[in-house]
Amino acid sequence: MKYISTRGQSKPLSFSEILLGGLAPDGGLYLPEHYPKFSYDDLNSMRSMNYPTLAFHIISKFVDDIPENDLKEIINKTYTKDVYAYSRKEQKAEDITPILKIKDNLYILSLSNGPTLAFKDIAMQLLGNLFEYVLVKKNKEINILGATSGDTGSAAEYAMRGKKGINVFMLSPYQKMSRFQTAQMFSIQDANIFNLSIKGVFDDCQDIVKAVSNDLNFKKDFKIGAVNSINWGRILAQIVYYFKGYFAVTEKNEEISFTVPTGNFGNICAGHIARMMGLPIKRLVVATNENNVLDEFFKAGIYKPRDAKNTLHTSSPSMDISKASNLERFIFDLIGRDDKKLNLLWQSVDQGGDFNLNQEGFFEKIKDFGFISSSSTHKERIHFIKEIYSQYSIMIDTHTADGFKAAFEHAESNVPMVILETALPIKFEDYIVEAIGKKPERPKSLMYIEDLPQRFEVLNNQTEEVKAFIRQNV
Ligand SMILES: *Cc1c(COP(=O)(O)O)cnc(C)c1O
Repeated sequence: MKYISTRGQSKPLSFSEILLGGLAPDGGLYLPEHYPKFSYDDLNSMRSMNYPTLAFHIISKFVDDIPENDLKEIINKTYTKDVYAYSRKEQKAEDITPILKIKDNLYILSLSNGPTLAFKDIAMQLLGNLFEYVLVKKNKEINILGATSGDTGSAAEYAMRGKKGINVFMLSPYQKMSRFQTAQMFSIQDANIFNLSIKGVFDDCQDIVKAVSNDLNFKKDFKIGAVNSINWGRILAQIVYYFKGYFAVTEKNEEISFTVPTGNFGNICAGHIARMMGLPIKRLVVATNENNVLDEFFKAGIYKPRDAKNTLHTSSPSMDISKASNLERFIFDLIGRDDKKLNLLWQSVDQGGDFNLNQEGFFEKIKDFGFISSSSTHKERIHFIKEIYSQYSIMIDTHTADGFKAAFEHAESNVPMVILETALPIKFEDYIVEAIGKKPERPKSLMYIEDLPQRFEVLNNQTEEVKAFIRQNV
């Protein structure tokens, strides 16, 4: 299996060759040259597999340069009930992504039972183990540099802590994360994890990461890498739980729909690929918040990203994204994998412009791929958190509440709808209190996390200070 770039100007490469990188050299995103397909009978044979067995069955179709037994071992140690230890009392932790029935034909797929209580753990934990394996094999090292406003950074740190050949330098805005998020990241004591608290806002952190990465000599000398959401390994890991969730709510391969709270389009892109592989998905519902660039695109066929100034800070902050990198992967499939056409579309996007798919009939084709969309407001999220708690005694977080809004809008009475739970309510305590007047329950292991000793460095908002810190610590 080779991987090709959506822009068509990069050499096709194998899985291990693209694993550690981000963008392809031509600026595109990697995709497998074709999608493996599962038949009706294949699906039946996969139906009763446990999570790691299912994960190996799917992932091994995309990886042909890691020996099967090694891949199996990596997957088996990633998806254990000790790593995904949190689960609601109706659920079993060994399901890794257990299902929760809300009512007939409405379910939550719990993706947030890992160490940082958000769905990014599912992919990042696998990435940590794959990175370590590939780096040790090649006798190489990598220094991961990233910026975070909360979720991504902690998922990366928990995945990479203590891993051979890997250091993590994670920039976050000084005193701007919630107390819980801060404690989650800064209480990590492993020597290979460096929390750099920058006197600025999140965009400043991101600008520093860009400036360091654009210094090609520094990047090469200090082996700077990234684990951002365009990484193919993250998408690949996420395909698995669409199958797991599907089998949990069906009996004989009937069609179901998924609703996915969306930011960078990574999670739902994995759903699109699962569908292309033959999983009977009727609809993929894109749920956005007030930052509704994707809702606009799926409703009108016009993709018009916004800049940071026009991106709102909302109560579902992990979806405050107005340029959805992974959309490029879907558009590539939508336009029949025509890389010349794709280059034209993104020429406009990369220059701060937009594109319109109505002119050549591509917009019409979107429905053949199952996509449909919705957006929500803060008031609607609070309403759904309150409603779901009062009717079913289930607490949901603000991102999952975006999902409920969209799911209720698009649910069909005879098609099961599965909403992906992308974070646990505990991560966004203040909004839960706003909605229902009480705090969500905490997993025991995180009960006193704010009291643990913290390990972080405060730096000025200056690229040179970050570079100097990296120089001194690798
Ligand atoms: C990252 C994140 C999202 C958005 O996921 P994408 O893959 O970027 O679409 C949604 N909810 C939560 C809680 C997240 O952390």
